[in-house]
Amino acid sequence: MSQKAKLTNLVRQKAGELGFAFCGISKARRLDEEAPRLENWLKKGRHGKMAYMENHFDKRLDPRLLVDGAKSVISLMINYFPSDHESYQSPLKVSKYAWGKDYHFVIKEKLKILTDALIDEAGSVNYRIFVDSAPVLDRAWAVNAGIGWIGKNTMLISRRNGSYFFLAEIITDLELDYDNPFGGNYCGDCTRCIDACPTGAITGPRQLDASKCISYLTIELKEAIPAEFQGKMQNWIFGCDVCQDVCPWNRFSISGTETAFQPLGNWIEWTIPDWEAMEKTTFKKVFGKSPLTRAGFLKLKNNISFVAEFEEEGNEQE
Ligand code: SF4
Ligand code: SF4
Repeated sequence: MSQKAKLTNLVRQKAGELGFAFCGISKARRLDEEAPRLENWLKKGRHGKMAYMENHFDKRLDPRLLVDGAKSVISLMINYFPSDHESYQSPLKVSKYAWGKDYHFVIKEKLKILTDALIDEAGSVNYRIFVDSAPVLDRAWAVNAGIGWIGKNTMLISRRNGSYFFLAEIITDLELDYDNPFGGNYCGDCTRCIDACPTGAITGPRQLDASKCISYLTIELKEAIPAEFQGKMQNWIFGCDVCQDVCPWNRFSISGTETAFQPLGNWIEWTIPDWEAMEKTTFKKVFGKSPLTRAGFLKLKNNISFVAEFEEEGNEQE
């Protein structure tokens, strides 16, 4: 067996052992086909106030500018669909990806084990790992690696298991065997995600106006959520799953095996007064290791007030 085949087998075998549901490999190249879409999206200001999205335009298209001598992009997907999603009873909603431990740490640890195995086999390896990281067009690479297609909701969808997955990449100077790109798009005539988006953030197939997306409003936006979104949040206080929940391909979602992504503590049963009463010490204790720290205590409290006020006013008027 050639060294290339040996290393490719090692990548796939380790990825499986570490709990990744999908692993695909593409040749590192400039993603010329993505350039006009990215440029257009940025020009229209669809990234809202996430100025960092404007940086490193060329690096985002070409992994060879991120890693010297890059030859391969390894795309990995790990399932975060919670096993007990039906036990979520809180009227205020947190996106499923954030129920457990911060995925950045969990996945980086796994990728470290995978790259250590590659170094053991190949000797010197130049590589970088990326977990949901702005410089890499992770969904485009997953399509290139044959994993699935990008749906009208802009999520990467696998025919087998839907879209409740985290994506990660290893860019490396190792030469590996490459998968064929995924052919086709299985959204068909469906427009459920576009129709169901509470804020009209999906302006067309694969057209996301991030500045209107509840995920952006509740996590990335540093300022107060604009009043125009009052009454449209559908009780989401961190992220939003609507465009994934309505997707027919997620009917096939199965629970992930990674226990770190299961809910930490009993907050999934909190009432609105429980959320409102949350103090900083409780936040740190309950969410200190979760992705909710990305928004931070004050932002989360503001989100809770923004949603709960409307909820309470609505109840009074009934
Ligand atoms: S995450 Fe929610 S707000 Fe954002 S595009 Fe999807 S449905 Fe719309
Ligand atoms: S809801 Fe329909 S249109 Fe949207 S991503 Fe899923 S299949 Fe595609």
